[in-house]
Amino acid sequence: MKDRYEIVVIGGGIVGCSVLYHLALRGSTDTLLLEREELTAGSTWHAAGGFHAINADARVAALQQYTISMYPTVEAESGQPVGLKMSGGLELAGTEERWRWLRQELAWLRAQGHDDAYIVSPEQAVEMVPIIDPTGIYGALFDPEEGNLDPNGATRAYAVAARNRGATIVEHDRVLSLERENGEWRVETEQGPITCEHVVNAGGLWARRIGRMVGIDHPLVPMPHHYLVTDDVPAVAAIDGLMPAVTDLEGFTYLQREGNGVLLGLYEQHPRHWEVDGAPWDFGRTLFPEELDRIMPELTIGFQRFPVLQEVGIRRWVNGAFTFTPDGNPLVGPVDGVPGYWAACGVMAGFSQGAGIGLALANWMVDGDPGVDAFGMDVARFGDFASEDAYLRATTAQFYARRFVMAYPNEELPAGRPLKTTPCYDDFLEAGARFTVNHGLEVPLYFAPSEDFVEQDTLGRSNAEPIVAEEVAAVRGAAGAYEIAQYARYEVTGAGAEAWLDRLLAARIPPVGRIRLTPMLGPAGRLMGDLTIARIDEDRFWLTGSYYLQAWHMRWFHQLGPPADVAVRNITDDWMGFSVSGPASREIVAKLAREDVANEAFPFLSVRAMTVGSAQAVVGRISLTGELGYELVVPTSQHRALWAELQEAGAGAGLRPIGDRAVDSLRLEKGYGIWSAEFRQENTPGESGLDRFVAFDKQDFVGREAALRERERGPSRRLVLLAVDAADADAAQDDGVWAGDRLVGLATSGAYGHHLGRSLALAYVDRDALDADLTVFVVGEPRATEILPEIPYDPTGTKLRA
Ligand SMILES: Cc1cc2nc3c(=O)[nH]c(=O)nc-3n(C[C@H](O)[C@H](O)[C@H](O)COP(=O)(O)OP(=O)(O)OC[C@H]3O[C@@H](n4cnc5c(N)ncnc54)[C@H](O)[C@@H]3O)c2cc1C
Repeated sequence: MKDRYEIVVIGGGIVGCSVLYHLALRGSTDTLLLEREELTAGSTWHAAGGFHAINADARVAALQQYTISMYPTVEAESGQPVGLKMSGGLELAGTEERWRWLRQELAWLRAQGHDDAYIVSPEQAVEMVPIIDPTGIYGALFDPEEGNLDPNGATRAYAVAARNRGATIVEHDRVLSLERENGEWRVETEQGPITCEHVVNAGGLWARRIGRMVGIDHPLVPMPHHYLVTDDVPAVAAIDGLMPAVTDLEGFTYLQREGNGVLLGLYEQHPRHWEVDGAPWDFGRTLFPEELDRIMPELTIGFQRFPVLQEVGIRRWVNGAFTFTPDGNPLVGPVDGVPGYWAACGVMAGFSQGAGIGLALANWMVDGDPGVDAFGMDVARFGDFASEDAYLRATTAQFYARRFVMAYPNEELPAGRPLKTTPCYDDFLEAGARFTVNHGLEVPLYFAPSEDFVEQDTLGRSNAEPIVAEEVAAVRGAAGAYEIAQYARYEVTGAGAEAWLDRLLAARIPPVGRIRLTPMLGPAGRLMGDLTIARIDEDRFWLTGSYYLQAWHMRWFHQLGPPADVAVRNITDDWMGFSVSGPASREIVAKLAREDVANEAFPFLSVRAMTVGSAQAVVGRISLTGELGYELVVPTSQHRALWAELQEAGAGAGLRPIGDRAVDSLRLEKGYGIWSAEFRQENTPGESGLDRFVAFDKQDFVGREAALRERERGPSRRLVLLAVDAADADAAQDDGVWAGDRLVGLATSGAYGHHLGRSLALAYVDRDALDADLTVFVVGEPRATEILPEIPYDPTGTKLRA
């Protein structure tokens, strides 16, 4: 072992070893992996080794598919057997809704390139896995991209392959502390100090403790988890070859073949946490005694689904710990303010995700960019609030208990809520608001006219849609107001602000008093944001973006180093306000504003600081609904007063509070995209249509070369607005768009356009399929669809500019 390396990876579990290997693949071999004990000594050694490609986030699912595809490669390269058993897997549906959902999942899998997944009847499921009792089963989904392997073999295969490529691995050497000295890390270890440029925290059960060494509190927590392995089961022993794994979605269990017996794992409804600060340093290869009382309800269901388990002995129990984050996905990537530190932790499904994490992180460390849309596992997707004990406990327990529970698209989950509320929360409650949550913040979805109204969870169109329709009608006919607290706001000030922003943003910087929409690009020409820039004064700018991207954006801003004469402040929680739009919005705002807000004095895309009601506001002439509209932003302390004043001013003009669902319907009628749906890290300006805001003639901005290249060759796909011949449901993100049996696109979002009276969706469609007859799969059913030749609502934007 040398005393200096470029990169030190802390932790020799499946994740650390995969990161080390992927760094080596990218040519980065001045690397050292330090393991406290022996490789696999954390969660890895006792894992069941199961893997699958399914994930609610399609981009994470693609990384899982990559993980699975890597096992034969790394086995061949290392010569170390990984014990791969590509058995395929069955997901059982025990309710009619779940059965419908499985067909949707099949459509999603096909849209993600899993051509060979298919639906089977209960009888076929029993033929494949003869120990299933099919009582109450509607059917199952079979996905061949599932199986299991030997966790130790797979970890060692990565380690051997990395070592063969030049990486160093040292076991029995615990990292004791991390100090930043002269722009490098001093890594204090049991075997002596090491310096390095980068450290990777792949510390698994100890990752929270390692993060705290550098002042970071990662939102992850260890939880115990049970599985049992049976003695031989004759019906299993009789199967010549592999037996598919089984996930019983109503039973909270998973089952896989283990020798001539089976392994049954349980996700119980009342999980518990263990050592929320991380495992003790001296925690060895230790299992907990089984906690039968706690898991008995799920165990009973498991024994009913697989009755033969009542007759065979249990060879061994495993009750071991692994880590959970609030949404169950890992924490990967760099952390703002801690240069040279990289997270690769919080990994709940290391054998489904290990190589995907390694790939994204190695790209990120070598190129400064993960190379894929990794937001679903980006450490920056959570705010500091997520690491607070109560929130972390509540959300991780919810995730654990719902691991196999079906999530409805309109379902609101209660854990850790309400956490962040705006000053209007109580007023909104009183007005009937039903809330969703955005990055911990309660956001009105719609305002129910009666306390008794109960929204039913559904895969189809919700029974709240008539309320949404009324809110849409209010905006199109008179006026609607919605809270814009869920926008992130950054204030950029200083003599060098314009020059710095000019390089950061792809659009031209607006003159004082004007607003502009602007893409922000990464070096490879892909989107890093769809921001609104408002120039309030010569050297005072506001950038507005999505609320949940605050840590992500701030990290990017700092990466592009604002010079000493530029200050960038996140003012999201300090300023908030309302968007008022609709034909009557001017009349309402005029009653409150001290200045003239008529079109001549304050045209579309104007911005100005002015008194509104009793507050010093910043007013922008902009709207997402496609109507004449104003955004009124005030200091948070005056937010509630402004709401009251707005209600009063709008009383005679038909003003109605509206929520997110109405905004979605309204924006789709205008074909407007939003971040995380139409605009993502994987998209380019050309394909998303945001190229119309790019100032290609600017001399220098991040991503310019790549954007110019794209403009020359033309994008390979296009964001289009679809009218869908839908029945009782609208399209959703990642629903496949097909031309016959050819997958030609993916939907990005869908909603019912209540004013137009049609189901709408935005989708990326391949350029060569733009004239084809298209079908989109909605809740698993094919629906005819057509690309709308022009924006169906106010195509020329006369209402916006009125
Ligand atoms: C019962 C059970 C069954 C499971 N089944 C599956 C399954 O079927 N499929 C699946 O995908 N996942 C499964 N998992 C989860 C899986 O085990 C984890 O996702 C995976 O092991 C996480 O790997 P890791 O490398 O992130 O962490 P770990 O395996 O915990 O590795 C972290 C390593 O870091 C080392 N370390 C920590 N601190 C230091 C330090 N200061 N200095 C040096 N080294 C340090 C530790 O010793 C450890 O070896 C299961 C988990 C449990 C508990």
